Amino acid sequence: MSAAVDPLFRRIAFVGIGLIGSSLARAVRERGLAKEIVISTRSPATLERARELGLGDDYHLDAATAVADAELVVMCVPLGAYEGVAQAIKPGLKEGTIVTDVGSAKASVMAAVGRHLPDGVPFVPGHPVAGTEHSGPDAGFASLFQDRWCVLTPAADCNPTAVSRVAALWAACGSRVEMMDAAHHDKVLAITSHLPHLIAYTIVGTATDLEADDHAEVIKYSAGGFRDFTRIAGSDPIMWRDIFLNNKESVLEMLQRFTEDLTALQRAIRRDEGDTLESLFRRTRAVRLGVVEAGQAGSFDPQEPKPD
Ligand code: NAP
Repeated sequence: MSAAVDPLFRRIAFVGIGLIGSSLARAVRERGLAKEIVISTRSPATLERARELGLGDDYHLDAATAVADAELVVMCVPLGAYEGVAQAIKPGLKEGTIVTDVGSAKASVMAAVGRHLPDGVPFVPGHPVAGTEHSGPDAGFASLFQDRWCVLTPAADCNPTAVSRVAALWAACGSRVEMMDAAHHDKVLAITSHLPHLIAYTIVGTATDLEADDHAEVIKYSAGGFRDFTRIAGSDPIMWRDIFLNNKESVLEMLQRFTEDLTALQRAIRRDEGDTLESLFRRTRAVRLGVVEAGQAGSFDPQEPKPD
């Protein structure tokens, strides 16, 4: 845990307080990064839970009321809800308020949100590349962003002071901050995050459709690799539905490449081309070691091959 610093913002309003919103609210509170934290969410049950958890100082069901007088607004809702939330907060936004977000796709968010924000309200789109398969305010924790990347994709004409203040917030929460063009972000995330989730959803779906006897054995012997896919495929259905619908082009492009490579592997197996398989698996093993060396491997697995 880092030492307390001067607050970076007087009042931060969160619109949406699930895994990501509540993790950021906890990190902000723990590190003293805002004098006041305002929480807003659409359901009374989630708002009440946020209050019980002590995530903020002020709680509102009405998003426009929540953002009034905030210095920074953080949108933390599923991608499909962005446009509605942007419209809802518009009447409460004052000139100079900075709006940011945490959505997993960026070009669609910039289009959906940007057009609704009044002049003089800079939008600094962000994506913390950190998460778990859990949802809701109970799932959050303050160290979620520690040593993880946070990508910011501001438009070229975005107010530079607003960008550096949002960058400073993420850095103070332990993240490594990177600036990127939104379209490039969406392409990179399509291959590193979105396609792996699609593959996990497919494998687990295929196994689920097997005959009853085979299905029982899939569960019984899941430690053989299937287990890791079930963790990813257990991720929030709404969030992931929205990611695929909001990053359609990049995901379809990566899926096309993947399908071609899968077909090549299929042929290699059919033709007993062991060398082809072995050379690919050696290359992929090196990639895994690179991820471990970069400190991005997540939990330590004693079975893991060690970097040389
Ligand atoms: P979450 O735990 O499911 O929380 C979602 C929050 O949004 C809740 O406060 C929920 O309110 C609210 N919400 C849901 N549907 C809404 C709607 N239609 N209109 C208004 N509010 C709505 O979600 P999360 O995992 O924190 O994800 C939030 C954002 O972070 C997403 O855009 C996602 O792409 C991004 N993200 C997620 C991860 C991850 O691993 N989960 C990682 C990086 C970025 P109620 O509970 O009151 O209904």
